[in-house]
Amino acid sequence: MSAPELAGLAAVVTGGASGIGLATALLLASRGARVACLDLAPEGLPEPLVGIRADVSDDAGVRAAVDQAAQRLGGIDILVNNAGIGAQGTIEDNPDDEWRRVFDVNVFGIVRTTRAALPHLRRSHHAAIVNTCSIAATAGLPDRALYSATKGAVLSLTRATAADLVAAGIRVNCVNPGTADTPWIGRLLDRAADPEAERAALNARQPTGRLVTADEVAAAIAYLASPLAGSTTGADLAVDGGMSGLRTRPR
Ligand code: NAD
Repeated sequence: MSAPELAGLAAVVTGGASGIGLATALLLASRGARVACLDLAPEGLPEPLVGIRADVSDDAGVRAAVDQAAQRLGGIDILVNNAGIGAQGTIEDNPDDEWRRVFDVNVFGIVRTTRAALPHLRRSHHAAIVNTCSIAATAGLPDRALYSATKGAVLSLTRATAADLVAAGIRVNCVNPGTADTPWIGRLLDRAADPEAERAALNARQPTGRLVTADEVAAAIAYLASPLAGSTTGADLAVDGGMSGLRTRPR
C-alpha cells in the first residue's frame, strides 16, 4: 500500500477550530499530515490535532503561535490561512473602525501569518499556502461591501504572493467557497425571524439546490495544499455550487 498523500508534511490551519478550518484540519490529518490549529478558541479539538491559541490580528501573538507550531510539528510545509469574520452592510453602513477591524482579521491576518510562516516554509520541499477567500471577492453581493472588499484583497494578495514566491518553490492558491453550511451560517440563521424558511431560501439560491458543505471546501483546500497540485499556483478554485460560473435560474 502506498503512503498517505501528505505523510511527512506539517500543516498550520488558522481558524482551525470550527467550520471549514476544522474540516480541513481533520482531512489533512487523515491524509497523514501533522496539523496545528491556530484559533481564538482552540479548546477540545479532537486527536491528533494540536490546538494553539492565537488571534491573527495580534502580530506578536501570531509569530509566537506559528513558531510554537513549527516546533511542535517539526517544521511547516502547508499554511492554510482560513480565519475570517463576516460583516453585513452597504458602503454606508459601517464606521471606519469596523472597516479596520474586519480588514485587520481577514486581510492583515493573512499577511501576518504568512510572514511568520515563511521562514519555516522556505525550508520545506513541498511548501504550499492556501487562503480561504470567497465568491464575495468577485460576485458583487448585495449588502456585503466591507466583507467583499476584504475578500477581493485576499484574491489579489494570493495572486501577487504566488508571483513573488514561485521562484522559491512555494505555491500560493485560494479557494472561493459559496454559502457553506458551517457554524457561521448557523449563527446567521439563528438571527432570522424564521430560520427554516431562511435556510430554504438559501438552498433555493444555489444552482445545486443546497449549501456547500465544509468537507467539500476542505477537499479543495487539501488538493491545493498537496504535492499533486504541484503545477497550480496563483489560482482560485470555486466551491460554490455553481454560483459564480453558471447562468441558471434559481430553483
Ligand atoms: P466559522 O465561524 O465556523 O469558523 C471560523 C473560525 O475562525 C472560528 O473557529 C473562529 O474562532 C476563528 N477566528 C475568527 N477570528 C479569528 C482570529 N482573529 N484569529 C484566529 N482565529 C479566528 O466560519 P467558516 O464558515 O468556517 O469560515 C471560515 C472561512 O471561510 C472564513 O475566512 C470565511 O470568510 C470563509 N467563507 C465562509 C463561507 C460560508 O458561507 N461559511 C463562505 C465563503 C467564505
